Amino acid sequence: MNIPMLDLKRQYQYMKNDIDTAIRKCLEHQLWIMGPEVKELEQKVREFLEVKHCIGCCSGTEAIVLALRSFAIKNGSEFFSTEDEIICTPFTFTATGDSILRSGATPVFVDIDPVSYNINPDAILKYLKSCFANKVKGIIPVHLYGTPCDMEAIVEIAKKYNLFILEDVAQAFGGKWKNKMLGSIGNAGAFSFFPSKTLGCFGDGGMVSTQDNDIAEITMSLIKHGGKDKYNVEHIGYNARLDTIQASILLAKFNYVEKFNARRIKIAQRYNEELAEIKGIQCPPLLEGAVFHQYTIRIKDERRNELQTFLKEKSIATMVYYPFCLHQMKVFENRAKMPEPVVEAEKAAKEVLSLPIDPLMTAEEHDYIITAIIEFFRKK
Ligand SMILES: *Cc1c(COP(=O)(O)O)cnc(C)c1O
Repeated sequence: MNIPMLDLKRQYQYMKNDIDTAIRKCLEHQLWIMGPEVKELEQKVREFLEVKHCIGCCSGTEAIVLALRSFAIKNGSEFFSTEDEIICTPFTFTATGDSILRSGATPVFVDIDPVSYNINPDAILKYLKSCFANKVKGIIPVHLYGTPCDMEAIVEIAKKYNLFILEDVAQAFGGKWKNKMLGSIGNAGAFSFFPSKTLGCFGDGGMVSTQDNDIAEITMSLIKHGGKDKYNVEHIGYNARLDTIQASILLAKFNYVEKFNARRIKIAQRYNEELAEIKGIQCPPLLEGAVFHQYTIRIKDERRNELQTFLKEKSIATMVYYPFCLHQMKVFENRAKMPEPVVEAEKAAKEVLSLPIDPLMTAEEHDYIITAIIEFFRKK
C-alpha cells in the first residue's frame, strides 16, 4: 500500500462528471475574467457562511492581505504603519505573518494553547495589559488544522480593546464555533482554496468574507487594481481576482464539502479511538465544529522524526505542520515583536506530526496506518 496525505486524483475520479461539466461550460462561454461562476460561488458561500459579503480572490494569502489593507483604508490610510501592531500566533503557515508585513503593520507573536495549537486568549490579554494597547489594531486568530479558536474569548477581548478580528480560515472551510460558521464571527475572514484545503480548486484561489459593507466595497476594488473604475483608480490595488474556471471547479466541489468534512471527522474519531491507548502519543481534541483539515498527533520524547521515518518506510506519508515557528524565520527578524517566549509553540513545532486524512480513505488504508503506528510504539 502507498498512502499519500491526500489523494487528489481519487477525488477527481469521484466527482469527475461534475467537474468536467463545469469546466466544459467555461470553455463554451469563454468569460474567463469575473465570469458568472465567480458571482455564483460568492453567493453560495455567502449563504453557507451566513455572511453579508464574500469576495473571491486569487489565493488565501491575498485574502489576508486584502482584508488587512481594507481595514487600513477604512481607517484612513492606504497601509498600516510599522507602529501599528497585529497580534497573531507564531504557529501557523508563513502567509499569516507575512501578510501582516505586507499590509505595513508589525506582527506580535503570542503563545498558543498546547492542546488546540491555537492562539491562547490569555496570552493575548496579557500582552494587551502590558503594552500601549492603542498601538494594537487587530487580532488574527488562525483556525489551525481546522480546529476552531476560542472565538468567545477573542471576541470579548477585541470588543474591550476596540480591535478588529480577521479570522484566518484557510484550513477550516465548513468549520464552526458553537453554532456560527468560521469566517462569519470576526470582522472579516480569509479563506484559501489551495488544492489540499477542505475546499480546494485546481490551482490557487481564495475568498474574503465579511459582514462589513465598507470592507466589502474596498476589498472588491482592491482585487481589481484599486478602483470602482478600472481605468481611474483610488487605491494602491492588486490584480487579485478569482479565475472563472477555478470558481466553476469550486462550485462543483462545494456540493461535496460537507460530506467530505463529515468523513474527515469520522476518520479523526477512529484515529483517536485506536491511538488513545498509546503512551507516547497525544491525540487532538475532538472539538465540536472542527473539520480536521489535518489530523495532527503529538509525539513525546523526541521520537517524532523516528516515527515519520518508520512510516515512510511503509509508504505512509506524514507531514510536519510546521517545523519552524514564524519568529524563527529570517523574514520576521527585526520585523516582528515577541513580548514573551512562546514556549508552547516552539515545543509543538518539535513534536507535531500530521497523519493522512483523506475523506475518501478506505477502511483498509486506515487499518494499515493505525497498525503501523501501533507497531512502532510496540517495538520500543
Ligand atoms: C494555506 C494557508 C494560507 C495561505 O493560503 P494560499 O491559498 O496558499 O495562499 C494562509 N494561512 C494558513 C493558515 C494556511 O494554511
